Amino acid sequence: MKKRIVILGAGESGAGSAILALKKGFDVFVSDKGEIKEIYREMLDKHKIEWEQGKHTEEKIISADEVIKSPGIKEDAPVVNMIREKGMPVISEIEFAGRYAGGKKICVTGSNGKTTVTNLIFHILKKAGKNVAMTGNVGNSFAMAVAEGDYDYYVIELSSFQLDGMYEFKADIAVLMNITPDHLDRYDHKLQNYVDSKMRVTQNQTKSEFLIYWADDPIIQAELAKKEFGMTLLPFSDTITEKMTAYIENKELIIDYPQKTNLMSIHELALKGRHNTYNSMAAAIAGKVLNIRKDVIRESLADFQGVEHRLEPVIKVSGINFINDSKATNVNSTWYALECMETDVVWIVGGVDKGNDYSELFPIVKQKVKAVVCLGRDNKKILDAFKDKVPTIIEASSMEEAVRSSYYLAKKGETVLLSPACASFDLFSNYEDRGRQFKAAVRNL
Ligand code: ADP
Repeated sequence: MKKRIVILGAGESGAGSAILALKKGFDVFVSDKGEIKEIYREMLDKHKIEWEQGKHTEEKIISADEVIKSPGIKEDAPVVNMIREKGMPVISEIEFAGRYAGGKKICVTGSNGKTTVTNLIFHILKKAGKNVAMTGNVGNSFAMAVAEGDYDYYVIELSSFQLDGMYEFKADIAVLMNITPDHLDRYDHKLQNYVDSKMRVTQNQTKSEFLIYWADDPIIQAELAKKEFGMTLLPFSDTITEKMTAYIENKELIIDYPQKTNLMSIHELALKGRHNTYNSMAAAIAGKVLNIRKDVIRESLADFQGVEHRLEPVIKVSGINFINDSKATNVNSTWYALECMETDVVWIVGGVDKGNDYSELFPIVKQKVKAVVCLGRDNKKILDAFKDKVPTIIEASSMEEAVRSSYYLAKKGETVLLSPACASFDLFSNYEDRGRQFKAAVRNL
């Protein structure tokens, strides 16, 4: 008899899993408690896959041999409790698709920088003419890519929620950018649980697999000191040079793999700012490990176009530079955005606070920010935190108002930076919507 796979959640990852499972000969059922987006309903119908929405029908679910849970469904959801009580195996889409993916898997995780690094590595491999898919949190799901094509390389962006349901999966190259507190609401408010989840990117790795990581991250350092790890370690840093696989010396990016080579000047890097130097170093190491020629890596890092909503230059209006960093949804990413500002800044900040500690930003804000524009439904915490730190602090209740006020506050040669350090769901549907509204308001000035 055919084995039955039940998929909970029919977004990008659920729909991809369903199509892959069907191709692999399983009996497939998809169940979503909410409303399934039309494109995924059509996709499931086209493949004649049975689905339901607005409910989870218990009899149809408990008959499964294995359940694939979408990353958006929380561990404490009633349906997950029910499945756990019955002792049914629950895995993530990545675990499932990993069983059928033939090519090399390059898995990028961390609290910040995932999307940028995933795109950079993809760009290098594309330029090198490789048969590569970019998947996971960006673009198509990994399962969909595996179902549709036979790729030699998969560059996969992994969130902690995807890593949670992974057991046998093994990354050929794992990239761990950093670990700073995020999403703690999903991890019982325990940082260690979130850290454990991120470290899963290394599970099952042996000497012939690689971990590329940021050597200066205190949390990663502490984790690596806890036990003997089997994989080959490839650290990078912009402060240390000894024993680093990538480092900076006299403003040159050096790669020491397999032998020492001077890759390029950091001034040639397309992505500016210290955090982006880390991102470029991580991608360059991945390229070297995959035997991509030095010239191709250098050219890719120099002509990379950047990703929308990540320190994205919009336009200059009356000599004022507007920058869209809407994807900065935590304090750490905003710190890096402010750090690389080269002029005085009018800073638009705010939204849904995920338990932020703003004190980390005080020194950099004092140094760079001349005015703060708070853009959120409830700005009290930000007003309290920064009112003594900057000469001007005001509130705005819409993006249009925030942009107009910033425009009046900024002078020629200065920068208006949207880098909210918060989630967007109070005033916007998501960070993309917030970023697009910002760009539209700037263009309307
Ligand atoms: P993620 O996919 O992990 O959310 P992104 O590449 O989308 O990461 O970048 C998210 C935000 O974090 C951006 O605002 C960007 O400016 C900032 N950022 C990017 N790379 C790093 C890094 N290595 N360290 C800290 N912040 C970063």
